[in-house]
Amino acid sequence: MNVNQQPPMASPYGQPQPGYGQPSYAPLGGGYPGPYGPYSGPATAYQPGAPQGYSTYASFPSKAVPANPVSDLPSPLDLGSTRGPPPVSTNQAYSQYAQGDIQNGPPPMDHSMAQPAHRPPVCQPYSQGAMNLSGPHPSYPQQYGVQPSMQQMTNQMSGMQVGSGSLTSAGPGYAPPPSSEPPISAAYSAAAPPSYTQAPHPVSGAPSQPSPPSEPAAPQPYYDGPPPSQQQPFPSSAPPPSQPFPSSSPYSGPPPSSQPRAPAVSRQQSFPPGPPPPAQQTFPNCAPPPVSQALYSGPPPSSQPGPFPPTFASPAHRRPTPLPPGPMQQPLQPGMQGGYPTQQNGAFGQPRGPQPGYAGPQYPGQQNYGAVPAPTPAPTQKRLDPDSIPSPIQVIEDDRANKSSEPFTTGVKGQTPPLVTTNFQVKDQGNASPRFVRCTAYNIPCTADMAKQSQVPLAAVIKPLAMLPPDETRPYMVDHGEAGPIRCNRCKAYMCPYMQFIEGGRRFQCGFCSCVTDVPPHYFQHLDHTGKRVDCCDRPELSLGSYEFVATVDYCKNNKLPQPPSFIFFIDVSYNAVKSGMVNIVCQELKTLLDYLPRENPEADSVVRVGFVTYNKVLHFYNVKSSLAQPQMMVVSDVGDMFLPLLDGFLVNVNDSRVVIESLLDQIPEMFADTRETETVFGPVIQAGLEALKAADCAGKLFLFHSSLPIAEAPGKLKNREDKKLVGTDKEKSLFQPQSGFYSNLSKECVAQGCCVDLFLFPNQYVDVATLGVVPVSTGGSVYKYTYFQAEMDRERFLNDLRRDVQKPMGFDAVMRVRTSTGIRATDFFGSFFMSNTTDVELAGLDCDKTVTVEFRHDDKLSEDTGALMQCAVLYTSCSGQRRLRVHNMAVNCCSQLADLYRNCETDTIINFFSKYAYRSLLNTPTKTVRDTLVNQCAQILACYRKNCASPSSAGQLILPECMKLLPVYLNCVLKSDVLQPGADVSVDNRAYLRQLLGCMDVSESHVFFYPRLLPLVKLDGGSLPMAVRNSEERLSKGGVYLLETGLYLFLWVGANAQQELLSNIFGTPTFSQIDPNMTSLPELDNPFSQRLRGIIDSFRSQRSRYMKLMVVKQEDKAELIFKHFLCEDKSASGGASYVDFLCHMHKEIRQLLS
Ligand SMILES: [Zn+2]
Repeated sequence: MNVNQQPPMASPYGQPQPGYGQPSYAPLGGGYPGPYGPYSGPATAYQPGAPQGYSTYASFPSKAVPANPVSDLPSPLDLGSTRGPPPVSTNQAYSQYAQGDIQNGPPPMDHSMAQPAHRPPVCQPYSQGAMNLSGPHPSYPQQYGVQPSMQQMTNQMSGMQVGSGSLTSAGPGYAPPPSSEPPISAAYSAAAPPSYTQAPHPVSGAPSQPSPPSEPAAPQPYYDGPPPSQQQPFPSSAPPPSQPFPSSSPYSGPPPSSQPRAPAVSRQQSFPPGPPPPAQQTFPNCAPPPVSQALYSGPPPSSQPGPFPPTFASPAHRRPTPLPPGPMQQPLQPGMQGGYPTQQNGAFGQPRGPQPGYAGPQYPGQQNYGAVPAPTPAPTQKRLDPDSIPSPIQVIEDDRANKSSEPFTTGVKGQTPPLVTTNFQVKDQGNASPRFVRCTAYNIPCTADMAKQSQVPLAAVIKPLAMLPPDETRPYMVDHGEAGPIRCNRCKAYMCPYMQFIEGGRRFQCGFCSCVTDVPPHYFQHLDHTGKRVDCCDRPELSLGSYEFVATVDYCKNNKLPQPPSFIFFIDVSYNAVKSGMVNIVCQELKTLLDYLPRENPEADSVVRVGFVTYNKVLHFYNVKSSLAQPQMMVVSDVGDMFLPLLDGFLVNVNDSRVVIESLLDQIPEMFADTRETETVFGPVIQAGLEALKAADCAGKLFLFHSSLPIAEAPGKLKNREDKKLVGTDKEKSLFQPQSGFYSNLSKECVAQGCCVDLFLFPNQYVDVATLGVVPVSTGGSVYKYTYFQAEMDRERFLNDLRRDVQKPMGFDAVMRVRTSTGIRATDFFGSFFMSNTTDVELAGLDCDKTVTVEFRHDDKLSEDTGALMQCAVLYTSCSGQRRLRVHNMAVNCCSQLADLYRNCETDTIINFFSKYAYRSLLNTPTKTVRDTLVNQCAQILACYRKNCASPSSAGQLILPECMKLLPVYLNCVLKSDVLQPGADVSVDNRAYLRQLLGCMDVSESHVFFYPRLLPLVKLDGGSLPMAVRNSEERLSKGGVYLLETGLYLFLWVGANAQQELLSNIFGTPTFSQIDPNMTSLPELDNPFSQRLRGIIDSFRSQRSRYMKLMVVKQEDKAELIFKHFLCEDKSASGGASYVDFLCHMHKEIRQLLS
């Protein structure tokens, strides 16, 4: 290793600051990347002499540091020889693995017996019969994706059989608003041609191919990004046709240019002209919700005239003045549909148009409930006051006021944590922090029947490697040395606070399966008079909810300690990629970014090795060995059978090869500046990365920077199958399914190798995200999408995403197992991973932002006395190459009364689960069915409450449980999301992207995604944020400025009559018309308001896993349409119901269920 040439951590790039993109991301990151302090946890009495205690990270065993694998590899190839079989075949390793050897986890007993050297005899007891975390691997009998059969969707979910699950999910992204800025054309200085050693052209089987014109561009929706300006997207030179590649000609350096042709790409369009189409839908027979509460009797508090005082009732609501059930019980009369009262459009004074009811077809679920239509509530022409229905803002503020002052301690079983929108500190006292695990319910039904009756989903959203705020202690590391972690003999649960020590401490009884296991001698400790071990407080695994174990070699693939991971960068250098400026930006950035590869210890060099490939329809590998004066390029044009043309010098240590790497990164943009190649491959690129990791015998991550639909002749070639006519039909689901099985099969190989793929897309037209995302989604990777990428406008967002993605703490080659106590079990999983059996969640990579959502179901009766336990164990390789086990424990209560269940639910988590369930169901189920099923299940949840828990009252009253009173408003946001109810302008790619993205979101992200945060920027004095307002146009004042956060974008909405002083403070101009709507960052003005506002924006960005681009929206500009899309309490342009209307509809559904 070279001398450490790292810039000090204080350099601007790496400095921890509240901003984004730093090695330690402020609010979240504090604890994670830093050095790990010595354990000083629950007790101070840690005895160093205790057998195999835990060590701090700073002193983890040196065995984790491997030799430099590069030097271990043979380098049999001449640089020029690019043809022939891969020099080192790793197929062997892989096939062994597939044939049933242990991948992750201790070997089965016979195996460990065969290798006694690994363990002292005392260790034997708990390695016996080892069912390990992953067990022997079948050779992937299953289809990629998950699996739950229909039967697995239990009775509990019977109302929601939206289809059996399948693999993946991915996510969302609204693109930037249109701009009139033409993309920059990258003008690279023409430097002297690089001196590449030219590789002889391999015998290529690739047919030379006439250039097919690029697919015709479909009109792009405005969400997809700033549509290219009316002016042309490309510099005047026409994009060349893809160029035939002579199979026999030696290929040297930059691709030759040839006759240009007419631009193959045409991009049009953008903004739907004019205002959104009027929403059509109506609530048939819908009346203003006969809201009110039976619980309160008395005069209405408000002075609302009219027979329907819009009061809202929830039992726990402490409203002093109860309402008389009187007029509200009045049944609505049929035939009043269309009768929804006109609503005034608050701030703008425009009438909101009559809202004719909710159209029947939207919710045919009604038909399921009886031929007899429920008595339709009689609408009076009285407008329902939105202030009278449950307000998300009020709930958020109340929780903040009540729960942010005291730390949330996890010692008490079954406590519902504060909302994700509340700032609070967590103290781990034996259950996992809500930052790691959030549950839909903290008091779960004792029986399956009860669970089925309530229809409340039982699920946990788990973020195993979540970063913690600086004031919270990250999980301690426990090292039991060669003996490895202590486990239950039968169920293999890891030592945790739920294990009961008996017989004076010589044995322990498992809290999960009740099996009794001997305590190994080295772990023995006496018990105190209460039966607890006297060292209980000194050991994280006996006193805390979350901690880590150092894993032994038994937990490693092939019983070999892992190598440190590698990062390989694949840069698309086709015409579009170069012209958009992407290639130049990536190469420039990598020169700096490579100094910030993940590391355990900020003082030390990263041990992650790097490699570089560029590609269009062929691949160019680079030898960047430190001894070379210049990088060498090797071209592989036979993409049909991908192999790695070099070993030595491909994966290198950054410090060793710094000069060569920098030279390469300087030369790549020049080399391809004049490229005329428009075609790309995609499958072979991933195959190449996979082969490289196999050859180096390590796990790692591939970073793909890709621009177009891979239409070049190669494995994984795709065709343009976008067909908007399918949207809304029963065949819509096919748009979300991968085009072929190629990528699913490739995923399996990647997962087996621990090869995680992150994909950065820069599309100008349809690229089939549903198919390209398959490998990233099944390997624990991420997809980023920058539609119509323009260097000037999008550079900041892309670079911040890239920086964070490269630096973020992550584990490799991971496998996760969730164990539960008798009576329940994990039955379904959601997220970015692969499963080859029903229990092991395999993640080639698992980063700090990824969640895995687990659904549980009963398989027996639970007991109120013991509650239910869950233990999530994740085995992974750290960025330094150490094998570790992270363990999260969670105990919840069990109840035999439905009321207890309804008092301890968490609606935000329920919505997170429902949305993931629904988005995944789209793969197999018509969209309308998915939507209907969601509505139906939520109606059943609320009807069950009404029937069993609420005080008797008139059916005309809508009564919601206190902790679920926001279920309708949030559910409506899910239903009208672009994925489930797209407007005409939402592209198939964007929906596929959002669908995949959601699959990994934690509760905080899904909350802001479905219900964005809208802040009025009136007074910004003091340290606290202004109180948010509800997401409705009615709440906007023409004289104000508002900040809207969606989790993916930030909008700054400027009212047409905004005060001049306000505008001056923010924009430096007092004139509305002079504000530039294309700005992506605010001017740095020297006034407190500007400083505070920019501080708020920075802090919002630092809290999200993706950089939120800022867009300025002036009132009545066309870009306002995009902004209004996020005002989710209003009726949407795509036909989504307003909150008020939807509440009426839900009420009707509930009444039908009850009648
Ligand atoms: Zn057990």
